[in-house]
Amino acid sequence: MSGSLATVSYIGATILFILCLGGLSNQETSRRGNLYGMIGMTIAVLATVFGPQVTVAGLPWIIASMVVGSAIGIYLARVVQMTQMPELVAFMHSMVGLAAMLVGYANYIDPVTSFHLIDGKNIPLSEAERAIHEIEIYVGVLIGAITFSGSVIAFGKLSARISGKPVLLPGRHLLNLAGLLIVIYFGYAFLHATTVAQGMTPIVVMTVIALLFGIHMVMAIGGADMPVVVSMLNSYSGWAAAATGFMLSNDLLIVVGALVGSSGAILSYIMCNAMNRNFLSVIAGGFGSDGGTPAPKGDGTVVPAGEVTPILAAETAELLREAKSVIIVPGYGMAVAQAQHTVYEITKYLREKGVNVRFGIHPVAGRMPGHMNVLLAEAKVPYDIVFEMDELNEDFPTTDVSMIIGANDIVNPAAQDDPTSPIAGMPVLEVWKAKTSIVMKRSMASGYAGVDNPLFYKENNRMLFGDAKKMLDEVLTALKT
Ligand code: NDP
Repeated sequence: MSGSLATVSYIGATILFILCLGGLSNQETSRRGNLYGMIGMTIAVLATVFGPQVTVAGLPWIIASMVVGSAIGIYLARVVQMTQMPELVAFMHSMVGLAAMLVGYANYIDPVTSFHLIDGKNIPLSEAERAIHEIEIYVGVLIGAITFSGSVIAFGKLSARISGKPVLLPGRHLLNLAGLLIVIYFGYAFLHATTVAQGMTPIVVMTVIALLFGIHMVMAIGGADMPVVVSMLNSYSGWAAAATGFMLSNDLLIVVGALVGSSGAILSYIMCNAMNRNFLSVIAGGFGSDGGTPAPKGDGTVVPAGEVTPILAAETAELLREAKSVIIVPGYGMAVAQAQHTVYEITKYLREKGVNVRFGIHPVAGRMPGHMNVLLAEAKVPYDIVFEMDELNEDFPTTDVSMIIGANDIVNPAAQDDPTSPIAGMPVLEVWKAKTSIVMKRSMASGYAGVDNPLFYKENNRMLFGDAKKMLDEVLTALKT
């Protein structure tokens, strides 16, 4: 493929990526957005593999690794459960970070990158070009290492292999500051190294510190603040890809990396607003570390902090049948139970009977941004009855039944009433203001943030204990008979 055809393909792919992001901003256009992204990525890969930067001798290596990578990707995509998607995303972010690190080292070690190839001759880089190239490498490896280790810890926390509780080292801010100063010092040493061997020590020391920083940063984040970290690592992975683009002089990778980096940064900002958190304080860590009433364990060994009123599926069906308006609030448990299709069946039935059924979606419901929207779209719930938290919160006092399906933290009144709670200040769906609220979950166990939920003990609240799918199936059967 000629250089100009590759450039045209890159421009086409860039436009498709921008259209993809535009499409993903709305549920109705998100499928189209995904399609644009897939076509753009196919064009980008083909234009790169068959473009002027790849020699014929390199092709078998690239194709062989693409076959191996695609086989792993297809296998993972086929076996991954919807509930494991957040960890898969964190794993992918870590791979982008690792790639940026490895490309940085390869670029530094490879003598070819110290020359321009002009008219078949190797012309050494000028002093300024060399300095810029080394800065690209240093910054690329730095961002890559933080993204890699941070994402590995996020993977551990999201898959519950590592505790969600924040781990706070004494003097953590000072440690971070010391790390930053050491990185700057070794950056200076790296730029002034005259040989690759001399530059190795500074870049290796910086890599170790960046890896430790990534671990420290994510370990210090409290449970309920994980959404911000997930979107932040998404942003970092974009900047790591952009840095790789600079190192490889690949314009498309720079543009795509910048698109992912900036959209991830905007998402982090939105998540911070949703959590009512200051972005810098979340990064500094420590939220969710103390205060609040501990949650009773779900195994019955600890006495709950109040009395709850259980309800049966048949009684739930009765309440729904008599209601004029119902708001359904789905949470992580709906994803675990894969209850979205039954939820849709119930919604359809009630709507046919003239009940006004709407869905209230909290921005951090589930375990990844947009988690609930994806599930509801999969179950074909009409978009026009799915509302964001702010659009619905005022309507709860005029609602007959609020039905909370596997949600916990996002409907916890302690966020408003208990200033010592780890989730204090986080906006929540005010489900308890409905005439009756019904919480569907298996036990009295806490949600991701690990705090007790006073909603369960309110007078107008009922607990429908059991797996959400099983209980909703029973409710549907009771509704129809
Ligand atoms: P929560 O984690 O607060 O609560 C989920 C509830 O679902 C649990 O209390 C659990 O109770 C119940 N549950 C689990 N399995 C089932 C099942 N099979 N049937 C019925 N219920 C079930 O989820 P929310 O969606 O309310 O809140 C999201 C939380 O996750 C927030 O704290 C948020 O900060 C955090 N988070 C969000 C991310 C995002 O990007 N959206 C990323 C990382 C964290 P029981 O075991 O008793 O059934």
